[in-house]
Amino acid sequence: MPPTYEASLEYALYQDNTDKLFSFRERFLFPQHNGADVRYFCGNSLGLQPKSVSYLMDKELRDWARYGVEVHFKAAYPWFSYHHFFAERLARITGAGKDEVVAMNTLTVNLHLLMLSFYRPQGKRYKILMEAGAFPSDQYAIETQVRMHGLDPDEAIIEITPQNGAYLIEDVDIINAIEEAGDSLALVVIGGVNYYTGQFFDLAEITKAAHKAGAYAGFDLAHAVGNLPLRLHDWNVDFACWCSYKYLNSGPGGVGGAFVHERHSNDPKLFRLGGWWGNEEKTRFKMQKGFVPQKGAASWQMSNAPVFNMVAHNASLDIFDKAGIDNLREKSRKLTGYMAFLLAQVKHLPFDVITPTEPERRGCQLSLLFTDRGREVFDALTAIGIIADWREPNVIRIAPVPLYNTFEDCYRFYEVLMKIK
Ligand SMILES: *Cc1c(COP(=O)(O)O)cnc(C)c1O
Repeated sequence: MPPTYEASLEYALYQDNTDKLFSFRERFLFPQHNGADVRYFCGNSLGLQPKSVSYLMDKELRDWARYGVEVHFKAAYPWFSYHHFFAERLARITGAGKDEVVAMNTLTVNLHLLMLSFYRPQGKRYKILMEAGAFPSDQYAIETQVRMHGLDPDEAIIEITPQNGAYLIEDVDIINAIEEAGDSLALVVIGGVNYYTGQFFDLAEITKAAHKAGAYAGFDLAHAVGNLPLRLHDWNVDFACWCSYKYLNSGPGGVGGAFVHERHSNDPKLFRLGGWWGNEEKTRFKMQKGFVPQKGAASWQMSNAPVFNMVAHNASLDIFDKAGIDNLREKSRKLTGYMAFLLAQVKHLPFDVITPTEPERRGCQLSLLFTDRGREVFDALTAIGIIADWREPNVIRIAPVPLYNTFEDCYRFYEVLMKIK
């Protein structure tokens, strides 16, 4: 049974009062507007700062001061092993084995490193299939990878566009295009949740189709990780990468992540660029010739862990562990469902919600496409301390995030829209 929603403040407050995850918002710092917390709908763009970050950052600084080089072994979280502290928690969020994930670098860098392994055009199998209108960084990465192999992007990249003037790309259109590309196809790269529309793709079915065509499937999970529970291992995904500063609240430029399915990561014949941190740990300091990749996704690491850049990630993943990704998803479905319900009551403003209506095909985010008056609505929201995201020329994106958004936030958003004549 879908929940029965009501467009009233009493209803929203009652939902907040009975929400088991309500108190998690206390763990975050909110920007202020006229002396009060803003209503923050931009967790899909930059997640809020966990309150524990400044204490934990200070602790790392003090450990460094106190121990100097011995910090590598004597710190509370020894720096030598720092990257190991993330694997289990990332594995829970992404549905992976702990050796299949690693916290390293940043998203676009990881996409390049993984494409160096998984995009190896050969003979007539050289094409990459992606969604049209992908995030610019992904477009640039794929374009330049293709050029690196001496190929022409116009010829080698297949872009899937929405059919018949729609905004969304149907999974079946991607799957049909994969079948059609057949043995010319080397790789499929899709944004797991589209940053613009909020659409969640069927990663399992896309992967299955890619494999049937003899190609690999990799996903950019920038807008999926920490937003929806993922099952990367079971879905048989070949590789994935993500950033941590959106739903994972790990700070601007925070450490990214990568997944490589164990059938690949434990195959030493699969090429990967080497660095000392990807080498087998027991011979890492022997300073010998010959790169021997360690087990798992960790073998794609190059350098030692950027500890200060991982502190917020550490703090945030603890919060995810306490809340539980499945609990968060349950609340998220209800919360975003409530927002969608409220928006459907607004008849006098010219917008459509272009995000899929089915909860299975979206995460937190809803995207409102205006034919007119979009900027006016956005400014009215900002004026009373509701932070949304404006995309030129005419889209407002909002993400009610289950860790720190409330049903009241959604109601207040709706109230602003209703007050505009
Ligand atoms: C946010 C985002 C990025 C950002 O990449 P960085 O390398 O972390 O700057 C890339 N791809 C998508 C789809 C994104 O949403």
